Amino acid sequence: MNEYLVLVVEDDIPIRNLITTTLKMNDYRYITASKGNEAIMLSASHKPDIIILDLGLPDIDGEEVIEHIRTWSEVPIIIVSARSEDQEKISALDKGADDYLTKPFSVDELLARLRVIQRRLIKAGNTSVTEFVNERLKIDYVSGCVYLDENELHLTPIEYKLICLLAKNVGKVLTHKYIIQNVWGSSADNNEASLRVFMATLRKKLNDSQQSLIQTHIGIGYRMMKL
Ligand code: CA
Repeated sequence: MNEYLVLVVEDDIPIRNLITTTLKMNDYRYITASKGNEAIMLSASHKPDIIILDLGLPDIDGEEVIEHIRTWSEVPIIIVSARSEDQEKISALDKGADDYLTKPFSVDELLARLRVIQRRLIKAGNTSVTEFVNERLKIDYVSGCVYLDENELHLTPIEYKLICLLAKNVGKVLTHKYIIQNVWGSSADNNEASLRVFMATLRKKLNDSQQSLIQTHIGIGYRMMKL
């Protein structure tokens, strides 16, 4: 049996069945809710390891559920949204959701998202605070040096802040707004164009033209993959 307990919050019965069948076949434990308030109660009483959350719920919307849960828990939340809900999806990520699935999604996509989250949970259980290692990349937080295959990279202060933010949130999709606020400060203009430029130079230095380390989520933001 899988050690992870997943809370599935979805009012659409066929989609909920698809998700729970997938979980069952892959040995996840799960509980379900079809309303937002029920989801909040179950997350408090059952302390799930992962939450899969539909944004369009019959009582309160998914964003409100996230805000509520985030007041006491950092449990990973994967949101499920319709294509027409792109704006809601971005603001749910801003409010602290970790990842997203757009309907219709495949079973494979769902399982891939769960694996990303599980790798993060495993990593969170054995964190070393002084350095971050992700395959060929190493960040030494004490000296402020970044290495690729043992070769030191020469990063600007902004690039260093960017890579540390991505590393700290490895596996999680970060929105443009979140990155800009954390790297340049909340007073900064919402300048996605300059973020793109910084990201391009950073990728070049990381030799990541294939985006295997840092993924672009068009119109949303970026994510560092756990390799
Ligand atoms: Ca719904």
